Amino acid sequence: MTSSTTLRTHTCGELSARHIGETVTLAGWVSRRREHGDKLAFVDLRDFSGVMQCVIDDGADARSEWVVRITGVVSARPAGTTNPNLPTGEVELTNCSLEVLNSAEPPPFPIDQRADEVDENIRLKFRYLDVRRERMQRNLRLRAGVNSAIRTAMENQGFVEVETPLLMPSTPEGAREFLVPSRKEPGSFYALPQSPQLWKQLLMVAGMDRYYQIARCLRDEDLRADRQYEFTQLDAEMSFVTKDDVLAAISNAVLAAAHAATGITPPPIERITWHEAMNRFGSDKPDLRFGLELVELTSIFSGTAFKAFASSPSIKGLRVDCGTYPEQAAMGRNKLDQLTERAKQLGAKGLVWMKVGEGGALESPVAKFLSDEEKTTLVTALGASSGDLLLLVADEWSTTCGVLGQLRNDLARPPVHEGPYRYVWVVDFPLFVGINPTTKKPQPGHHPFCHPHPDDESKLETDPLNVRALAYDLVLNGWELGSGSIRIHEPDLQRRVFQLLGIDDETADRKFGFFLQPFKYGAPPHGGFAFGIDRLVAILAGEDNIREVIAFPKTQSGLDPMTNAPGPVEATQLNELGLRTLPKPAG
Ligand code: ASP
Repeated sequence: MTSSTTLRTHTCGELSARHIGETVTLAGWVSRRREHGDKLAFVDLRDFSGVMQCVIDDGADARSEWVVRITGVVSARPAGTTNPNLPTGEVELTNCSLEVLNSAEPPPFPIDQRADEVDENIRLKFRYLDVRRERMQRNLRLRAGVNSAIRTAMENQGFVEVETPLLMPSTPEGAREFLVPSRKEPGSFYALPQSPQLWKQLLMVAGMDRYYQIARCLRDEDLRADRQYEFTQLDAEMSFVTKDDVLAAISNAVLAAAHAATGITPPPIERITWHEAMNRFGSDKPDLRFGLELVELTSIFSGTAFKAFASSPSIKGLRVDCGTYPEQAAMGRNKLDQLTERAKQLGAKGLVWMKVGEGGALESPVAKFLSDEEKTTLVTALGASSGDLLLLVADEWSTTCGVLGQLRNDLARPPVHEGPYRYVWVVDFPLFVGINPTTKKPQPGHHPFCHPHPDDESKLETDPLNVRALAYDLVLNGWELGSGSIRIHEPDLQRRVFQLLGIDDETADRKFGFFLQPFKYGAPPHGGFAFGIDRLVAILAGEDNIREVIAFPKTQSGLDPMTNAPGPVEATQLNELGLRTLPKPAG
């Protein structure tokens, strides 16, 4: 890359001892100014690449954040004044002449102050100043590097980049959509894409074979650390493939992205089934960076006299080992009560805790209800020893897993960005995740285009909740990076799945005819995947909120303090669209 332009010969951060003696011209922002005496002043000049100390005439007017151009000679800093913490710390610019390109008002916060010391709203209100700072510069450049590595990896594997529409009909992918009113057809709406799902499947029918896109997706869902209304994903689809082909292609892109960001290629990504993830970690987003695995205990209590256990289809426990988690294992009565409350909030009927004493003796309010044999077997099954805390939940399988999985995270999960990076493929997700309380129909685990596992297809109508899908997720440090599946390419099977969801043929044709119709014209077997680039980059950049890797994100409440969006529009615009707004509901 050449950094010189008509207005500069070098960038601030690139100068070092090897440039000593050269006359250079830099351009940037005044980061700091300090009086030096002898009619001289130091100016730290900043651009995207770093900071350069320049010795200027103290009469020169150059204040914080002014945009200036400085010509001078690269010189060694006098002995004792070098700064080993700065890449340019051995040199400075002397004999400088300074030209002011633009003056500036004092910024609302010091640009060189640490970002977390500035209020989030102020950072977003003045985002262009926030992005001028080192942290955001680094993150956005890292993101660009990741995008570029992903493109290369995809193209090297024969994927073709295709752009898909932003204005589209509403689709049954599950998330709440953003709608765009049509001016030509008042009362009609486009939806913004939750993802390019339908388009990429149509591209397979169209014979594109391998498609990818770094796609912007929009979902009107409550925002969190890992969720914005708009986000970016690597979206891909392939024809004539099985799950293994998709996982291999996506792994290549993810590993290339990780290498671009960190310089290290992670080891091949391991796989576990959804069932195993739930059983061992109590989560379909298992964080493999720490232990505290759930242990199956149901059979120990098959003949128990303890009522709460006797009637439970599933009993699981986890051992808070006092060697690894001394503080948690030693928690007192108050904390244990809080943990029990938490378990109840999460849906359990209760939480059984036990402290292991000398010789394996169990101290617990329920200890007296358990036989000696049950206690000994329990201690052995959990591998417990003196000083450990044992936590048990007895309930439906999904509740024991879910509650203990959450407690596991509450007790020991490190911040998401902390190493080591643990990627894992979770495969064989269930096709449906439960029964929708309103429609009384099964609820798709992902979207309704996932192919049922061929071994389970015959159970679709009779035992839908036990049908596995050819669907898989990619998880990193407990964050879901993305999902994908082998798709249904057989029109009859697609209709069967729609029927199960309560979408009859007539409704399916009316709403998604444009999608179902093409499948009559020779749809190849196909499958794909999409992963969130914001999430991946955030973790690789050492951030725990995706806002830190998005140039212009929204606040947690979905607002943009800089542009004040969303805002009201002119009545004439509404009229053109045939819309009228209702007063804001009270409260
Ligand atoms: N469209 C899906 C999503 O955005 C990904 C996929 O199934 O390929 O989550």
